[in-house]
Amino acid sequence: MHIPFVDLHAQYLSIQAEIDRAIRQVLEGGQFIGGRWLEEFSEAFARLHGVRHCIPVANGTDALYISLKMLGIGPGDEVITPALSWISSASCISQCGATPVFADCEPGYYTLDPARLEALITPRTRALIPVHLYGQPADMDPILEIARRHQLLVLEDCAQAHLSRYKGQLCGTMGHAAAFSFYPTKNLGALGDAGCILTNDAALAEKCRLFANMGGVKTHQIEGINSRMDTLQAAILLTKLPHLPRWTESRIRLSQRYSELLAGSGLQLPPVREGCTHTYHLYVVRSRQRDALKAYLESKGIGTALHYPSLLPLLPAYAHLRHTPEEYPVAAGYQQDLLSLPLYPELTKQEIVYIAETIIEFLT
Ligand SMILES: *Cc1c(COP(=O)(O)O)cnc(C)c1O
Repeated sequence: MHIPFVDLHAQYLSIQAEIDRAIRQVLEGGQFIGGRWLEEFSEAFARLHGVRHCIPVANGTDALYISLKMLGIGPGDEVITPALSWISSASCISQCGATPVFADCEPGYYTLDPARLEALITPRTRALIPVHLYGQPADMDPILEIARRHQLLVLEDCAQAHLSRYKGQLCGTMGHAAAFSFYPTKNLGALGDAGCILTNDAALAEKCRLFANMGGVKTHQIEGINSRMDTLQAAILLTKLPHLPRWTESRIRLSQRYSELLAGSGLQLPPVREGCTHTYHLYVVRSRQRDALKAYLESKGIGTALHYPSLLPLLPAYAHLRHTPEEYPVAAGYQQDLLSLPLYPELTKQEIVYIAETIIEFLT
């Protein structure tokens, strides 16, 4: 059996006629920047979250950078972000001229540890970036409480958390702003790069809109960048959006099946925070024999991936900050053990059974 780590073609085939129709409509409409598709997608995505403003941008990395910069973060400021995440959760801070301050993981979870947060706060700290990593919400109640107490801004990184819920509340609705990615493999993926910002703050929304579109196309009130979402991607995302709840349920169901089959196998299975909805952008397990297990699965036709092979502060890009693994005892302990198993809505139960059996075969 051959099971890739992700299969984007399977999703296209499942809604081929709808996607083809949307693409054709854009081609026939002859407008490739701006237009009704962008408005319709932004409105639909904002409405889904019960948030007033959605600003479509070119990708999730820009969504983080633009919101942080328009929140006023700049040189001299410090922003706290998790040590375990995708680099965009940190690069957005340096791109604003500010300094990223890395926080360790909550033991047992992979999200920012609120218990270690306050020790990192200095008079220069201006903002926090909780990342709802792998689809699991960060522990927002204590994080928001700390932010309130220290008057810090909160930017949620929702790139892996479409429809995830923290105690009933959708991720992306709890901070001052939220950044989403629609990179093709994300739970809601475009056919190329795309992203958006959500906020209830009208003034912030207007600033982000201007900055992402060259400071205002005709007026150039400020100096901005070109970070627009393509019309084509907006049409594709609007077409895919109604399928997102079903795809999310499928990810949850398949993950539960993995967890049932792998219980007692010796692998550390992904925890689900009490009262929360984990939407499994990734199904990540931990094993002391991670590299050998990965190679064995590969030899049996099963694709896996590492998220992430290095903590952010230990990447070459941050060597100048001179961080050491000892500063992040929890995350550093997980680093060599993390393995992401295949997961996408079209994966079958039989394939999950085959993967689980192959893992158990290796471990026993
Ligand atoms: C994917 C991702 C991003 C960046 O999104 P792009 O659209 O690829 O730029 C940011 N943060 C996290 C946690 C991500 O997984």
